[in-house]
Parts: sequence; C-alpha cells; structure tokens
Amino acid sequence: MSQSVHVHAFRDLLDGGGVVDDPERIATYTTDQRQLFTGSTLAVLKPATTKQVAEIVRLAAQQGIGIVPQGGNTSYCGGATPDATGRQIIVSLERMDRIREVDPISMSISVDAGAILKNVQHAAATAGLLLPLSLGAEGSCRIGGNIGTNAGGLSVVRYGMTRDLLLGIEAVLSDGTVVSDMCKLRKNNTGYDIKQCFVGSEGTLGIVTGAVLRLAPLPIRRATAWLKLATGAPLAELLALVRRESAELLTTFEFMTARSIALATEAMTNPPSVRAGSGGTVLAEIASSSRHLDLDELMEAVLAEAIESGRIEDAFLAQSGSQRTAMWEVRETIPEGEKRRNGSVKHDISVPLSSIQRFLDLAGSQVRSYDADLELSVYGHVGDGNLHYNVLVPPDVDRIEFTNRIESGLSLQLYDTAAALGGTFSAEHGVGRFKKHLLERYGDVGRIAAMRRIKTAFDPSDIMNAGAVVRPLGKESAS
Ligand SMILES: Cc1cc2nc3c(=O)[nH]c(=O)nc-3n(C[C@H](O)[C@H](O)[C@H](O)COP(=O)(O)OP(=O)(O)OC[C@H]3O[C@@H](n4cnc5c(N)ncnc54)[C@H](O)[C@@H]3O)c2cc1C
Repeated sequence: MSQSVHVHAFRDLLDGGGVVDDPERIATYTTDQRQLFTGSTLAVLKPATTKQVAEIVRLAAQQGIGIVPQGGNTSYCGGATPDATGRQIIVSLERMDRIREVDPISMSISVDAGAILKNVQHAAATAGLLLPLSLGAEGSCRIGGNIGTNAGGLSVVRYGMTRDLLLGIEAVLSDGTVVSDMCKLRKNNTGYDIKQCFVGSEGTLGIVTGAVLRLAPLPIRRATAWLKLATGAPLAELLALVRRESAELLTTFEFMTARSIALATEAMTNPPSVRAGSGGTVLAEIASSSRHLDLDELMEAVLAEAIESGRIEDAFLAQSGSQRTAMWEVRETIPEGEKRRNGSVKHDISVPLSSIQRFLDLAGSQVRSYDADLELSVYGHVGDGNLHYNVLVPPDVDRIEFTNRIESGLSLQLYDTAAALGGTFSAEHGVGRFKKHLLERYGDVGRIAAMRRIKTAFDPSDIMNAGAVVRPLGKESAS
C-alpha cells in the first residue's frame, strides 16, 4: 500500500487538525532534541481523545505500521524519534492536554497524558497543592513523556521520581485495548501493578493517554542556600548532614562545578555575582508548608555546622525571592550554556551516594589521560547520586563527529567506572535509541530477558516504538 493511501486511512479517523504530513511541519517531530539524529515518518497524528488513539493503534496494527508515541520531544536519547525507514507514524499527544480533575481531599490530579508538566504544576498550585515533579524541560515536556522516561528532576531527594507519584493510568495497548485504571487510591493490592509497567517503558508497551498523580502540600516557606565547597568536600557526608539537621525538609541538593556555573552565567542576560568554592557548589533548598517553622533560622544553623566541620568554605542564604530565583537560574541555564558553546557529550550517570567522590576522582583521571585538553561541565542531582558528567564539545569542531568519537571511546571508560562502582549509564534520561547498546553491555542478562518477555507480552508484533529499548523475543536482529 502506498504512503498516501496509509495517510488517507488515518485522515478518515481524525478531524482536520489531526494529521500533519507537510514535510516542513513534520521536521520538528522527526529530529531528536539534541539534533543528533533525524528519522522519517509517514505522518504525525494528533488524536484528541483516547478513543481516537485506540482507533489509530488498531489501524496501524492491521496495516503493520509502527508507532512512535511523542510528548514534548525533549528526550535526551532519541526515544521519541522515528527510525529512518519511514514505516513509523508519530502519535503526538499534544492535543490531549486537559486537566481532568484536581481532588484536594485525595491530594491527586487526573490529567490527559499530553498535558504539559508546567500546566499540571500550575493547576495543582491553584488548588493549594504541589505536583512535586520539576525539571528543566517542564515548559515543554508532557506527562506521558514523563511517565515514559520515569522523569526525575530537582526534588527527587524528597518526593521520588515519576514512578513514586503515579497513582493511576489510562493507556492504549498495541491491539487497541484501553486500560482504564485512573485510580486515586494509595492502597490497591489487587494483582499486578500494570501502571508501573509503563513507567520507563519509553513508548515500547503502549500509549499512555491519561494519568493520576499524587500531590503534596504546597510549600509556602523556603530557605535556599549556595554552599561553596572545599576541594574534595565529601558530598555524601555533607548531604547526610544537611538532610538530618534540616529535619527531612530538604527538597533539593544540586551540585555544580565552577565551569558549569561559568557556562550558565555567560549565557544569562543579568547574571548574579555568584562564585563556586574550590570544590564546586551545592544549591540546597529546604521547604515547608507550615507557617510555624522558621526555615531561615534552621538553614543558618545547618550551614554553620557544615562550615565548622570544614566541609564547606563558605555559604550564603538567599535573602529575597529575587536572589533565590537568580541562584536557580544559574542551575537551570547550564544546559543552555553548554548548547551555546557547541554542546556537550552527556553522561547521565548515577552511582551509590557513598561512591560519588570516588567516581569524580577516577573519571577525572580517565578524562585527563584520554585527552588533557578536554573540558568538562559536571553538575547534577547529586542528592540522588546522579551526575551529569558532560564533556564539552570544543567550539571549533564538528559536534556530531566529536560526539561519535567520545561515545565510542571515553564514554565507555566512564560508564565502566560507574558500573564498577555499582552505578548506571542512564540515571534518568532512559535508553531510547541511542543507549540500547549500553543496555546490552551493562544490563544484567536475566533482567534483559525479563524485559524482552514483558515487551513480547504487551507488543508481540513490535509495533510500539520498535528500535527503542529492547526487542521482543523472536526478533533477534536489530530493527
Ligand atoms: C533542558 C532539559 C532538562 C531535562 N531535565 C531532566 C531532569 O532533570 N530529569 C529527567 O528525568 N529528565 C530530564 N530531561 C529529559 C526528560 O526525559 C524529558 O524532559 C521528559 O521526561 C520527557 O518528556 P517529553 O514529553 O518531552 O517526552 P518525549 O521526549 O516526547 O518522549 C520520551 C519517551 O517517552 C515516550 N512517550 C512520550 N509520550 C508517551 C505516551 N503518551 N505514552 C507512552 N510513551 C510516551 C516516547 O516514545 C519516548 O520514548 C531533560 C530534558 C531537557 C531538554
């Protein structure tokens, strides 16, 4: 069947705005967010209802057409990008962006999977509650994508990842069956927890169309501190101190090296005059919904103890909302700062907290012996053991060529080090298309076998995001 006949069949299912096949408009959907790979697609389909999603999936299954679910297309590992065959359609959830219900008593929010994370946060805040999921891409990423990648972000240390926030799900399986489990319950021990299968599945098991998320009381007080670290400061011990002495109110513990901070401030219009310590900086924040706690006083006492113990050189507390915003802007502008320079080769590693310092020492030596001229930008959600250990692309070289060279050499050394310390090559970005070989290299054989059985059970014909994460059983050659 020709491409135009396929597209015509989908057009019959959807209304006017539901099918995009104009090559110029399609282009933004077929290139991954880091612009490392451009795939090809028959069309971008934009269903408006779960029923339409189910009809699309049924038709695609009948015609043997692959499906790539897409949210905000902010995946860092090509998970939302179709392959080059032109035999996959993109199903974009962007028209399914409704907030279905906020339930302040159950402290939950029910949304369409295409709702933008920032809009969901806003709807929760309007009801006096917090959706405790926050990340740099929150203005464009969508809840289905957050579920697909089990997104983490800036407050995992207190509230956990997307997995920990998910109460219920609605999803379309690869034969068009709709799973309607938009459940608000905290306790529901009635067999397999199907919703959790979709978390981190990166579109390979079905299309998530709705979700119920757990909310928390909205913090009304915050104390935000900039901790200048001494050289070789034991990050894990510092975290333990701040966490313990702040009575578990810690929401953020973000590490940044001086180089990352400089990249960010160079990219800002009005950069604050903040400096890193000789061992980098930690941005730490505590927050509470209580009117009865003096968080500044608490944080000052914590900082005094940290200085006294010699773990930090100095620290200061944001004295106003604008100072707090400026500190946060530095942290959030680092990816943009890297991009402006010529990008970076990203290593989203995590190691057990007790091994963070060891990783930094070993990885630093590896980089120096690989090429002493390489520059690093190292930062991350170190409260979760997560580091973005990024190698900066020199300004005057071809970005893709450099990325390929580093990824086939130095990156493997760095991942080997993380793995030897009990860590992982992908803390929060997922596997997608770019990191499949790493899953094969580092993944436990039994775990990969179990993943392939799950994939086979959900999607035996491999129509859901084929080529990402794992293949079903019986499909041995890479697709
Ligand atoms: C500036 C920036 C900062 C980031 N910071 C963080 C961070 O701090 N923490 C973190 O964890 N990640 C971070 N990320 C990466 C992160 O994975 C994504 O931002 C986000 O979770 C993906 O959402 P999305 O809607 O863009 O998904 P997409 O990129 O569109 O898709 C991601 C994957 O999910 C699948 N998918 C999408 N929608 C659905 C659906 N409805 N049903 C089934 N599968 C679906 C796709 O097929 C794909 O495999 C960052 C990215 C950027 C660009």
